[in-house]
Amino acid sequence: MSVEETVSPNNFIRHIIDEDIKTGKNEGKVATRFPPEPNGYLHIGHAKSICLNFGIAKDYDGTCNLRFDDTNPHKEDEEFVDAIQKDVKWLGFDWGGRLYFASDYFQQLHDYAVELIKNGKAFVCDLGADEVREYRGTLKEPGRESPCRNRTVEENLDLFKRMKEGEFEDGARVLRARIDMASPNINMRDPTLYRIRHGVIHHQTGEKWCIYPMYDYTHPISDALEGVTHSLCTLEFEDHRPLYDWVLDNISIPCHPRQIEFSRLNLQYTIVSKRKLTELVKEGHVDGWDDPRMPTIAGLRRRGFTSRSIRDFCDRIGVTKSDNTVEMGVLENCIREDLNEHAPRRMAVLHPLKVVIENYPEGHPEELDAANHPQDESMGTRKIPFGREIYIDRGDFLEVAPNKKFKRLVSGGEVRLRNAYVIRCNEVIKDNNGDIIELRCTYDPDTLGKNPQGRKIKGVIHWVSVTHAIEAEIRLYDRLFNLPAPESAGKDYKEFINPDSLWTLTQCFIELSMADAKPGEQFQFEREGYFCLDEAHVSGNRPVFNRTVTLRDTWSKKNSM
Ligand code: ATP
Ligand code: MG
Repeated sequence: MSVEETVSPNNFIRHIIDEDIKTGKNEGKVATRFPPEPNGYLHIGHAKSICLNFGIAKDYDGTCNLRFDDTNPHKEDEEFVDAIQKDVKWLGFDWGGRLYFASDYFQQLHDYAVELIKNGKAFVCDLGADEVREYRGTLKEPGRESPCRNRTVEENLDLFKRMKEGEFEDGARVLRARIDMASPNINMRDPTLYRIRHGVIHHQTGEKWCIYPMYDYTHPISDALEGVTHSLCTLEFEDHRPLYDWVLDNISIPCHPRQIEFSRLNLQYTIVSKRKLTELVKEGHVDGWDDPRMPTIAGLRRRGFTSRSIRDFCDRIGVTKSDNTVEMGVLENCIREDLNEHAPRRMAVLHPLKVVIENYPEGHPEELDAANHPQDESMGTRKIPFGREIYIDRGDFLEVAPNKKFKRLVSGGEVRLRNAYVIRCNEVIKDNNGDIIELRCTYDPDTLGKNPQGRKIKGVIHWVSVTHAIEAEIRLYDRLFNLPAPESAGKDYKEFINPDSLWTLTQCFIELSMADAKPGEQFQFEREGYFCLDEAHVSGNRPVFNRTVTLRDTWSKKNSM
């Protein structure tokens, strides 16, 4: 989908809400919720849902609850509860004390189940999981009714009570809704409402319960108890909407939120499924949930993405009902534009080549002024030390220019050092293998901030002073998968993991001014890209920088040739 096709922020959901307000529905109130299951870290797809739900609440002067959908205790963990809260906050949203857990409602959910039983709308079923599946039928064939379907209310109440009291083993019985085994919608064929789970300690309720409600039963009731007006979810729940409505229509709850579905975000060259991201982490394909290659919020943050850029991305992709896969370039452009505007410029040499400036006095380093941003004067200037020995990038020198486009340094040629002087290369020193180890140059002291008369010097390269530079480790990232849609290539998606998604460069040199950079701080390394100081890593006293994103292609074409 191209960015132009989107209708955000005037998306179809906002149109529905506008209409509801006009007709006085919900007394003009707007209440949404973001309902993650705490079984993994949030990913960029969740960011779309967060921006939508919290964004609507903000714009309509409404509320947005953060609710943990914690009905699967065996997969969930407190670590995820904490990480999710941290990520939502970091994205810039505030639930303002409206933090809930579906498990807060276990008692009410139970009591509504009793109400359904009393009204003949639910029954305890003794069929095993396989039998339930077999009885369910298919898209073409209706299901068959369970032999337990016509139990008396008394028997059902008794059995449900005994389920709750722990008398039966896992899987021995379930509570099912009594709807319609012939419904064309399989979700309506007497779906399971409660199952038995012994031996798990729920992160919120401990060992209090051994029966747990199913998502499709829990979700509508949680929404209604919280007074949600618009329950926004992804398209795969469209077929579940009749059940959402059935649950609320068949219990004595006064509130009936409206479920509205929108399409999930899919992003090229990565995956946005918590189950698969969990596999990548557990099987060691990546270095944890916050690995900078992961499409998780934690990974993107560590990679150097700003929350502003992610919100901007969510605005640009918009909210529609059509399935789509967004190009990675859209996300990359958002962070590039943000950092282009806000990241101070610095110099760093990734592949160092030593240059000795022979006519520069020994032991007399000077401090040169450099602007922190080419357009934004308010970002100020800094001092950069210059000396007799500097590092330049290996890629900026060739003995002989391969073509006329090559504007960098060549043997016998001149080039401008960014923020400093023009130098000329007089001699190339090689080791026994013929590899270049050092350049001998001279500088022209009259060229600081101005071009010498009559000499055309087109190339500008970056550098750092040998005696002042700080050694750093720099990590370059590429896409995690080498196919745009690794999940739909007909094979195991793991076969398409890009083996070269991480390049670690040691012995890089960065400008002295970054000595006191803070973890997470972002810079543009001139001509190299946007980088941030890793949140967690100082590798053997060397700072570690992550490349967030490369520079715009047009920039490198124009400037580095
Ligand atoms: P996953 O498939 O990655 O496990 P999920 O839907 O099971 O995702 P939840 O924690 O249940 O994960 O999701 C919380 C909310 O985020 C839900 O409302 C869900 O619809 C929404 N959401 C999840 N993935 C996406 C996505 N890719 N794009 C948009 N919204 C999403
Ligand atoms: Mg889910």
